[in-house]
Amino acid sequence: MHEWALAESILAAAEKTATQEHLKTIKELTINLGELQQIDRGILRFALKALADEHPSFTKAKFVFKTEKSQFTCNVCAHTWDYKDLKKTLGATEAEAVHFIPEAALAYVRCVRCGSPDFQITKGRGVTLATVKGT
Ligand SMILES: [Zn+2]
Repeated sequence: MHEWALAESILAAAEKTATQEHLKTIKELTINLGELQQIDRGILRFALKALADEHPSFTKAKFVFKTEKSQFTCNVCAHTWDYKDLKKTLGATEAEAVHFIPEAALAYVRCVRCGSPDFQITKGRGVTLATVKGT
């Protein structure tokens, strides 16, 4: 994941929201980071601050990061489970691989209820702008 590109798209999304809500000064942005998304939060924060300095409306903005829990959904029995459940059924090495490379999930993960390899990662992969606060 490219933190700088990500920071740019987060600010662009925040700016759009700010315009829609007629906010002149952005005070706080809350950003949801997927549990399965490998992001260096230090770099992301640095990139956001550096880019924010170039936007008059963002210079005082605070950035709050929240973790979005992962969710896997079975395509066969519709059962849902998360990374925590997965750790109980996978070995530590496999669980770690899934954490850092979600694509690895496709190789290791089975539905914890029916054992089917046919599932989707329904949460925990993306980065979303949760809230924009300002005046
Ligand atoms: Zn299932």
